[in-house]
Amino acid sequence: MSSIREGMMRAARFHSGGEIRIDEVPIPQCPHGGILVQSLASGLCSGELMGWYMERKAASGPHVLGHEVCGVVVESQDDRFPVGIQVSPHHHAPCFECEVCRKGQFVHCETWRTTKLDPGGMSEYFGVSRELLGDCRVTDGLDHVTATLVEPLACVAKQLRRLGYQEGEKSAVIGLGVMGLLHTLMMPGSVAFERNQGRIDWSVNSGVNARLPDTSEKFDVIVVCPGSEEAFEFALSIANPGARIGLFAPLPPGKLGFDFERAYMQDLILVNSYSCGPNDTEVALNWLKSGRIRGEHVVSHRISLSNLPEAYEQMKRGDILKPVVMFG
Ligand SMILES: [Zn+2]
Ligand SMILES: [Zn+2]
Repeated sequence: MSSIREGMMRAARFHSGGEIRIDEVPIPQCPHGGILVQSLASGLCSGELMGWYMERKAASGPHVLGHEVCGVVVESQDDRFPVGIQVSPHHHAPCFECEVCRKGQFVHCETWRTTKLDPGGMSEYFGVSRELLGDCRVTDGLDHVTATLVEPLACVAKQLRRLGYQEGEKSAVIGLGVMGLLHTLMMPGSVAFERNQGRIDWSVNSGVNARLPDTSEKFDVIVVCPGSEEAFEFALSIANPGARIGLFAPLPPGKLGFDFERAYMQDLILVNSYSCGPNDTEVALNWLKSGRIRGEHVVSHRISLSNLPEAYEQMKRGDILKPVVMFG
């Protein structure tokens, strides 16, 4: 079946070398057994600011940004997702049948790794394949900006699940970018450390106990959000013996410049957490529906697609917390 929509649309693309451009690209066809979605809102992810990571993605051609999406179904080949409903699909979905899926390790499923939005989430339309519908949340009832938080909040749900975090534990979060702020909001009573005064001020307004880094207090659960050795070493310096340290972002590729002796002697437990699976998006959707997290907690700027290149640089510099592109 061919698409009723033909022609070109606008999409934000990362070009090798680091430039973000708004390019004209073809409107995708509705995938066989999938859906075609018209974008309503799309958030810029802090992961998309990591230069080395994006260069890798753009090595084979310009890379369409965006995976924190909210849109409306405009063509459908799946009765569960009829035309007119609001959806927030994950940009990867597992097969649910292979060995790693049976173990619940969804992000390591071959299908999960090879699925993606067509051409990406920062575009006026995108296709969601039949496989991707395995992790596509209906977000009717949530405002468009809040609905874009399903994926980032699901990454927080996964990290906290893997850490075995319990409310009331003495906990700290390092870094108050969007992801640090989401963690902190889901860890009541935690202390958040940040060097950027603007981010501290924003978080304090959301009721967060945020302050400049100091090592006067020790913690049992620590989440490290920036992917830097410096942030990780700070975590070691505020860890109680036996503490669990969650690494939310990857450290840059290559050998690490510090030794692990302290981590060993202190019995520290290091927990990596990469992306999230369908079990986590379900938890995140429930958190959003409960009102515990809302768009206005973490989204500082609502912008048009044409303003994205500028907002990208501003977010990268730490001048703004998080922009969401509003379509239409
Ligand atoms: Zn993201
Ligand atoms: Zn699988």
